[in-house]
Amino acid sequence: MSSNRREFIKKVGFGTTAVTMGISSCKAESTEKKSSLGKSTIISTWNNQGANQEAWKKLQESGSILDAIEAGIHVPENDPNDTSVGYGGRPDRMGNVTLDACIMDSLGNAGSVCFMKGYKNPISIARQVMEKTPHVILSGAGAERFASDNGFERINLLTENSEKAWKEWLLESNYSPQINAERHDTIGMIGLDSKGNLAGGCSTSGLAFKMEGRVGDSPIIGAGLFVDNEVGAATATGLGELVLKTLGTFLVVEFMRNGLSPQEACKKAVKRISTKYDTSSSQVGFIALSKSGDYGAYAIQKGFQYVVNTSPQTELFDAKSIND
Ligand code: ASP
Repeated sequence: MSSNRREFIKKVGFGTTAVTMGISSCKAESTEKKSSLGKSTIISTWNNQGANQEAWKKLQESGSILDAIEAGIHVPENDPNDTSVGYGGRPDRMGNVTLDACIMDSLGNAGSVCFMKGYKNPISIARQVMEKTPHVILSGAGAERFASDNGFERINLLTENSEKAWKEWLLESNYSPQINAERHDTIGMIGLDSKGNLAGGCSTSGLAFKMEGRVGDSPIIGAGLFVDNEVGAATATGLGELVLKTLGTFLVVEFMRNGLSPQEACKKAVKRISTKYDTSSSQVGFIALSKSGDYGAYAIQKGFQYVVNTSPQTELFDAKSIND
């Protein structure tokens, strides 16, 4: 989601319906939070308030945290104005929108698709990979064939707006990932139901104008997403290459297993990245949720936000960062 779009949501998108939809229009300082045991919790990266709302609604209807995650992630995937997830995502430098997504359930099952063109709900295709195949990851043409065989509709993911942005970019062809300006708005969503079961998903169109064939952290289990029902769950956003090289979310969950709180675990994983690599112009943000319902976040740079539901009311937080 672009910063413009974030502003749009804060100021206009849900303005008049904020009360009825239970969407928070004010930001709170991020401190470590605790939900009481037995209480459902849903957390997403960035200002994905609409996604959290949908996930919360689905959780009440179906009681399934996995269904809730899938339904929530459909919101940005279906939104043509969200330029970093699903339909309307920015293309690679060849002009193709290629999508990455993964999902994990409370039993430790996982499914993923990557470098996939032509299908706007990669999270659902990833779920079917998890549920219907003996594999974890399907990529490229194989993922597309699997989607088609399973009844998903093929569409053109490149909106007029994204095509225009790509053509403008082609004039300069100057590629240099930037901190938050490059819309690291991947949705990573993790949740806990009232029975103490965790699940998560992550979906993105990846970095705008990336090289053809580039796959980031988002569809890679242990990088963009990790769920361990005994401990907790974590998901990532930002420059995927940094998260891939450190298996960031696996690290966060392992830090929680060793006794750190979600926020301390995110902070330690961020520090691992920033001590090993030059992160002066890169962003990475983690969010994490423990089995007992504690949650937290941490980022390299200021500007990372996340949204939380422990009730129908959605709260938007600014994550703490190294540069605070
Ligand atoms: N992590 C994503 C990727 O590298 C990008 C993002 O979070 O915006 O593909």
